[in-house]
Amino acid sequence: MMAKERLYLFDTTLRDGAQTNGVDFTLADKLAIAAMLDELGIDYVEGGYPGANPTDSELFAQDRHLKATLTAFGMTRRPGRSTSNDPGLAALLAAKADAICFVAKSWDYHVRVALETTEEENLASIRDSVKAAKAKGREVLLDCEHFFDGYKANPRYALACAKAAYDEGARWVVLCDTNGGTLPHEVEKIVGAVCKVIPGDHVGIHAHNDTEQAVANSFAAVRAGARQIQGTLNGLGERCGNANLVSLIPTLKLKKEYADAFDIGVSDAALKRLAHVSHALDERLNRAPDRHAPYVGESAFATKAGIHASAIAKDPATYEHVPPETVGNRRKVLVSEQAGKSNVLAELERIGLKVDKDDPRLSRLLETVKERETIGYAYEAADASFELLARRTLGTVPAYFDVTQFDVNIEQRNNARGERVTVAMAVVKVKVGDDDLISAAEGNGPVNALDQALRKDLGKYQKYIEGLKLTDYRVRILNSGTGAVTRVLIESEDEQGEHWTTVGVSPNIIDASFQALMDSIVYKLVKSGAPA
Ligand SMILES: [Zn+2]
Repeated sequence: MMAKERLYLFDTTLRDGAQTNGVDFTLADKLAIAAMLDELGIDYVEGGYPGANPTDSELFAQDRHLKATLTAFGMTRRPGRSTSNDPGLAALLAAKADAICFVAKSWDYHVRVALETTEEENLASIRDSVKAAKAKGREVLLDCEHFFDGYKANPRYALACAKAAYDEGARWVVLCDTNGGTLPHEVEKIVGAVCKVIPGDHVGIHAHNDTEQAVANSFAAVRAGARQIQGTLNGLGERCGNANLVSLIPTLKLKKEYADAFDIGVSDAALKRLAHVSHALDERLNRAPDRHAPYVGESAFATKAGIHASAIAKDPATYEHVPPETVGNRRKVLVSEQAGKSNVLAELERIGLKVDKDDPRLSRLLETVKERETIGYAYEAADASFELLARRTLGTVPAYFDVTQFDVNIEQRNNARGERVTVAMAVVKVKVGDDDLISAAEGNGPVNALDQALRKDLGKYQKYIEGLKLTDYRVRILNSGTGAVTRVLIESEDEQGEHWTTVGVSPNIIDASFQALMDSIVYKLVKSGAPA
C-alpha cells in the first residue's frame, strides 16, 4: 500500500469567522474555541489580527501553548515603506504566534486601483515581509487575495505573487477565492497550473461559499494537488461563509477516495466528538444549530417514511451513507402522523424500551401520537416529548414532583431612572414528596420568569437539573379546526452536551411553554436516573 500523504487543516474561525454578521468574539470565546480546535486535531489555528483590535492584541500578548500552530494574520509591509518602519508589520512580528499569515494582493487590477502602487513594489513587499517574518523565526504563509479572479485576468502576475513568497521561503502559499464566485472546475484547473510551479505540499486553498461550493472547491483544489485546506467551524464567515470544516473533515476521514490517500490531524476518536464541537460553537454564539447540517445536524440521519424505517431497522446501511456514530451523531426515526408501527418500534428500540410488536400498548401509543399530532403536537421535532409519551404509555415514568400552582405576572412601569420597563415575575408552588416548595423569579419575559422559578428549587431533585439549560425556544401559531393554538418547541442541553427537544400545545402560550418546560425537566430526571 502507498504511504498516505499528509493533508493539513487550517482553521480561520477566529479571524475570517469573526467577520460573520452578528458574531462578536470575546477573548474568552476565542480561547475556548481555540482549545476546542486544538483538541479536535486542527493543524493551524488562526487567532486574529494583532494590532487591529484589543481582543486580538490581547490574544497574542502571551504564549497560548496550543498543540496547533497558532497563527497571526496581517498585511505585508505597506508600499513605499521599509519593513522596519511599518507599525502594522511590527505588531505582527511582535505577536506571540508560531506562524504569520500575510495577506497580499495578487490581482494586478487591485494592486493598481486599491493599493495604488506598482506591480513590482507589491512583489517587493511580499518578499520583504516573508523575509522579515522568517528572520523572526516564524513559519510563514502568504494569503493571495483574489487569486482566482486575478489569475483569470493576468495569470502571469498572480503566479508571480505566489512564487515570490515561495521562493523567499514561505511554508505555504494560500490561494484565496476572496469573492467566492469561482466554480469547482475552474479551481481544479487553476490550482493544477499553480502546482506545476509551486509544489502542491506548499499550496493551500481558502474558499468562500458564495455559490454554495466552498467545500466542493476545497476538494477540487486537493484533487489538483493542494495540501492545505482553510475553513471555519460550521462554515462561519462573512456573506455566505467560508468552507465548512465540519463538513470537510468527515468526508476526508470517511470517504474512500480521500481516506485512502490522506492522513489528517483529526483522529477517529476526535471525529466522534465533531457533532458536539459544532453544537458547542452554536451554543457559544447563542444560535440554534442547523438541523439539516450534513453529518452533524439533527436531521442528518433522520428517516420519516415507514418503508425506509423498516429497512433501516433491518440494516442501517440501506439508507445511510456513513454510520452516524462515527461523527457523534445518531440515527433518528421520525415519529409522526404518517408513522407506521415500524418507525415507532425502531425509535423505541433506540431509546432502549423493549416492547413486542403485538403488544396492545404499542397500538395505544400510535393512536395517542396521531390524536395529539392532529391538535398540534409535533413529535418528529420533539424527540424527548415522544420518549416521555412512550414511557408513560408503557408505564415507566415516576411522578417525581407536582406543580400545584403557578402564577405569572407582567408589569410595565418606570424604573429608578425614569425609563419605561416591562418586568415579568413568576411564582411556582411545587410538591416534592411531602415537601411544599415555593419559588419566585424575575425574567425578561413571562416564559423566562416561569422557567427560572420552576428550576430554582426542586428539593431532592435539584442536583439532577443543575446542568440543564434551555438553548432554543420556538413558537408557532397553528390554525386548527377550532381556532388558533400555540405550539412551543424548547430545545435543552445538559452538562454532557446532549441536546433534546420538547413540545407543548395550548391556546395559551404560557400554558404551552409550561408543558414543554415540564417535559424537558422530567426528561432530564429520567435520563439522569433520578430515583422516584
Ligand atoms: Zn476569507
